[in-house]
Amino acid sequence: MIYLDNCATTKPYKEVLDTFVEVNNSYFGNAASINKFGKTTNKLLSAARGQVASILQVAEDSIFFTSCATESNNIALLGSVEHKKDFGNRIIVSKIEHPSVLESFRELERRGFILDYLNVDEDGVVDLNHLKSLLTKETILLSVMQINNVFGTIQPIEEISEILKDYPKVHFHVDGVQGVLKDKLDLSKVDSYAISAHKFHGIKGVGVLYLKSRRTVHNITFGGGQEDGLRSGTVNVAAAASLAKALRLSQEKVETVKVKHKEFKTMIIEGFSKYNHIVINSPLSEKYIDSIINISLPKIKGEAIVNALNERGIMVSTTSACSSKTFHLNEALFVRGLSRENIEGSIRVSFSNETTKQEVETFIEVFIDEYNKKFKEVIESGI
Ligand code: PLP
Repeated sequence: MIYLDNCATTKPYKEVLDTFVEVNNSYFGNAASINKFGKTTNKLLSAARGQVASILQVAEDSIFFTSCATESNNIALLGSVEHKKDFGNRIIVSKIEHPSVLESFRELERRGFILDYLNVDEDGVVDLNHLKSLLTKETILLSVMQINNVFGTIQPIEEISEILKDYPKVHFHVDGVQGVLKDKLDLSKVDSYAISAHKFHGIKGVGVLYLKSRRTVHNITFGGGQEDGLRSGTVNVAAAASLAKALRLSQEKVETVKVKHKEFKTMIIEGFSKYNHIVINSPLSEKYIDSIINISLPKIKGEAIVNALNERGIMVSTTSACSSKTFHLNEALFVRGLSRENIEGSIRVSFSNETTKQEVETFIEVFIDEYNKKFKEVIESGI
C-alpha cells in the first residue's frame, strides 16, 4: 500500500507510540494531584510544554494542550471574541479556512457578530487589498490559515500582521495545522496559533494552542481549571509528551524533507506535463508548499480517480477528509474561481516525512496507466 493522504493524517512514529505507552505505564498519576505520582507526571507535562515552546520559539506559559486543532481553533476564536466583545462587533475570516474555523465564525455570526469573508485570488492567496477594505475600528477578530489544506497555498501571515498594526483591537488567529514546521513563521506576529499532533507523525486526539497572552482569551468550557483554566479536564500527559516527541523528531528532519518534497512534486508535475487533460491546481511556485499537490481530471469525478488508485493500492483523497464522504463542490477550490468540472475532478496528493521516491514513482506510473485505460477516452469524448 502507498499512502499519499498525509494532509488527512500521518502515521505515528514508532518512538511517539513508545512514549505514549511508556508514559501511560509508568507515569499515570494525575498531573493536578499533589502526591508523588502526580508531581512526577506534572514534571513530565512541564517538560513536554517546554519542548514544544522551545521548538515554536515562544514562552512556555503560552503553550496549552488541547484534544485537537478543532478544539484549539474553537477556543481561540470563541474565547478571544468573548474577551473583546465590548470593543466591537465585526469579525473577518478567509474563505478557504478549514471547517473548524469557518463553523466557529458561523456560530459567532449566529450570536450576533457581523461576519466578513476575506477573498482569495486565483492561486488561493488572501487578497490583502480586500483585507484592508474590510478592516474597521469595530473589527475584533481575523483568522487566516498558514497553509491551505486543499491545495497548499502559503498565506502572507507576516504581511497581514503588519497591516494589523493599525488595528490593535484585532485578535489575529492562525490555523497552523498544515503549516507547522513546513513554513517558517515568527509566532510573535500572531495572537494565537493551532496545531495538531496527528499531522506530524503524532497520535490523534492531542493538539496545542499557542496564545501570546492568556489574558486575551476567555475559556469557553468550565471545570477543574487545568491548563491555566483555558482547557479544564484531566490533562492527557502521555499524549502531550508524545506530541512533543513527534514535533521534535519532525523538526530534526525539516530541511531534508523540504528537499525531498520539492523533488517529488517536480517529478509528478514533469511526469504529467505531456498529458493535456491532467490539470495541476497547485503548481511549483513559492506560493505553494511542496508537500501537497491538487490534481484534476476535468469531466471525471474525483471519487472515481480515488477509487481507481485505491484498487491499485494507492491512497489519496478527494478534497479534505472531513468532506470527502459527502459530495459537494469544494468551497476552497470554488472561491479560487476554478471551473465546476475541474473541482469535481480534483484529488489531493500529500506527502509525509516518510514518503519515498519509489512510492512517488509508482504513483505516477499507476496514475498514467489508469488515465490511459479508464479516463482519457471519457474526457476526449466530452461525456
Ligand atoms: N485545520 C486544518 C487546516 C486541517 O487540515 C485540519 C484537519 O484536517 C484541522 C484544522 C483539524 O484538525 P484536528 O483533526 O486536529 O481537529
